[in-house]
Amino acid sequence: MTIAQNLGFPRIGERRELKKATEAYWKGDLDRKGLESTGTELRQSNWEKQKAAGVDLIPSNDFSYYDQVLDMMCLVGNIPERFGWSGGNVDLDTMFAIARGIQGGGKDAIAAEMTKWFDTNYHYIVPEFTPKTQFSLASTKVFDEFDEAKKLGITTKPVLVGPVTYLTLGKVTEGDFDKLSLLDDLVGVYEQILSKLASQGAEWVQIDEPVFSLDLSKAQQDALRAAYDRLSKVAGIKIMVANYFNDLADNRELFTSLPVDALHLDAVRGAEDIEPVAARVGDKTSLSVGIVDGRNIWATDLEKSLSTLKTAHGELGSDRLMVGPACSLLHSPVTLRSEEKIDAEFKSWLAFAEEKLDELVFLARAADGQVDQQKLASNKEALANRAESARIHDEAVQRRVAGITAKDYARGSAYPERARKQHTKLGLPAFPTTTIGSFPQTQDVRQARAAHKKGKMSDAEYDAFLEKQIQDAVKMQEDMGFDMLVHGEFERNDMVEYFGEKLSGYAFTQFGWVQSYGTRYVKPPIIYGDVSRSEPMTVKWSKYAQSLTDKPMKGMLTGPVTMVQWAFVRDDQPRSETVKQVALGIRDELVDLEAAGLAAIQCDEAAFREGLPLRRADWDAYLDWATKSFRLTASGVRDETQVHTHMCYSEFNDIIESIAAMDADCISIETSRSQMELLDSFVKFQYPNEIGPGVYDIHSPRVPNKQEMIQLLEKARDVLPAERIWVNPDCGLKTRGWAEVKPALQHMVDAAKELRETTKAA
Ligand code: GLN
Ligand code: ZN
Repeated sequence: MTIAQNLGFPRIGERRELKKATEAYWKGDLDRKGLESTGTELRQSNWEKQKAAGVDLIPSNDFSYYDQVLDMMCLVGNIPERFGWSGGNVDLDTMFAIARGIQGGGKDAIAAEMTKWFDTNYHYIVPEFTPKTQFSLASTKVFDEFDEAKKLGITTKPVLVGPVTYLTLGKVTEGDFDKLSLLDDLVGVYEQILSKLASQGAEWVQIDEPVFSLDLSKAQQDALRAAYDRLSKVAGIKIMVANYFNDLADNRELFTSLPVDALHLDAVRGAEDIEPVAARVGDKTSLSVGIVDGRNIWATDLEKSLSTLKTAHGELGSDRLMVGPACSLLHSPVTLRSEEKIDAEFKSWLAFAEEKLDELVFLARAADGQVDQQKLASNKEALANRAESARIHDEAVQRRVAGITAKDYARGSAYPERARKQHTKLGLPAFPTTTIGSFPQTQDVRQARAAHKKGKMSDAEYDAFLEKQIQDAVKMQEDMGFDMLVHGEFERNDMVEYFGEKLSGYAFTQFGWVQSYGTRYVKPPIIYGDVSRSEPMTVKWSKYAQSLTDKPMKGMLTGPVTMVQWAFVRDDQPRSETVKQVALGIRDELVDLEAAGLAAIQCDEAAFREGLPLRRADWDAYLDWATKSFRLTASGVRDETQVHTHMCYSEFNDIIESIAAMDADCISIETSRSQMELLDSFVKFQYPNEIGPGVYDIHSPRVPNKQEMIQLLEKARDVLPAERIWVNPDCGLKTRGWAEVKPALQHMVDAAKELRETTKAA
């Protein structure tokens, strides 16, 4: 029988139960037992949902109170020394301390670093390795959860992050040695884990090695071979190695040669792998075809998927075929059931995690010839209806995109000429001061927005409230002596949601949360149709703010790459097409802001770097469309209008050419924590336009003093032409409080003033 299997289910709960319980536990409002019972309930409900849906092989240990990589750190006893762990089982509080840092009660340790999980918006805790690193079995979580499910009558397939992926994702924090030299020791612990699971009655274990989606070095390839040669010898348990997030490319041969019982491939991103892999796997090896998209929200084309599966079925037969989601469903919202505001038609186009379970069960049964005709027919109808729907297709938008010419991608003149015109118009001093856009989103601001949304505050009252916020912000900036002002973004909930709500082609869910890290979940919008802007989105506020001051006000927008990157995107056209439509919508906004009298406009591209594909070979294509879409957005305005962009990022080395090719008049970046080291790439490359290296670390409540900022600025002045340096914080200030922001900004403006004096004198 073809097996319907799942790789992982969202652990956050239908109503964010895990977040609520975990945060209550951190605050001391819920005791440990309370938190653990929420965990138990969520696991049980997830297993039962999967069982009810008919999934044959259900995962366990996919649950986590924080992060699955952090759980692995605990499982293999890889606890950074500063957390004072002295052996034995790693307890819950130590685990949370690693994730969040700990201060008080005689303890003071900074949190472990967190970074993006491959090319998703999920973030994992980074394992740390030192010359002293030794692994040992130090947690019972995976065993306990297996037993817990077994008591419910479900023999689960425990999930582990694989040893080579684990070592690849970690970092050496002390000494200078090769992480892979730790493999032998680490695999020893995996052997113990597998033996123990076997003794508990586990039939399968799923070992995730998404490193197969990357370019692998010879050493990594050898490590994979060595690890699975050893693990395959553990008796009494079958191993499934799972790759996801990409095709196999050059790693195909290595992947198929692993001596394991099953291989899982991502058939959404690697459809071309199915046939060759099916033909190549050993005749005792099963193949799990990950054909249901685990990280987008569209209903699967069941007919098409079925015909793909039939090819694999022909090669492998029912005994060796499995059907799964491409990756863990962790990256999907939980269920469509509770979405009351999405109409039935639109719903029929979608599948969240629960609905995806039904799809993969349908496909597994259908591969064996038991086709649920009714489901097939309704899926066909929904897909046809979506393809033809007037809600999706807007001919005017398509015509406009088709009519884009080379001229639309270029400003009137090159930067030097534009700069001359802009400087004449703006008349700013050297080292001009500005901020990145948002000011603290206080309780007041959030309450007013919520009240307005609920209809408890009238439009007029809300407008008056926002006007008052803007007045105060403008007055404050003038008093402090800022050169270029911002309105403060008080009207915005989120930099993508705000614009998505005003653009056609975007939809929003009520409960479509996805874990981003720990207890932080995001609710990405859905881009479902042709995107267009029907009316100005920000002009009212920016114009109002400009009317209050003689200083230049900076208009504030979100760039097209970020608008697309932080959304669930259409799967019926390439991302590079969708982004053009978004770019045109935002381009219109720039033009309107210009017409309304704004002399400078910032277009944030916070997600530019994170869109980079996993393999180097795919970078150029991405960077090409990403860069072009920014240029398309920015090129509708006259030379005199200064276009800024902002990137919260730090690493620019490998994409600096593309950053320059965006041709923004000014870019602000995050540099304060690294003491301006991150400027290096801009210096080496001789970045030709203006640049605002952040001098105020907004991720910390700490208030930097004037002298520190002067020192940072002097470093920048040593390496960059003084006339192209701006003075600004690292990022927006919305998560901070006024009490810290006010003194910090005043110190910043004062630092710039002093720098002007010393530069003149020199
Ligand atoms: N303008 C936005 C702000 O200040 C930029 C935020 C970001 O790039 N993350 O909040
Ligand atoms: Zn930022």
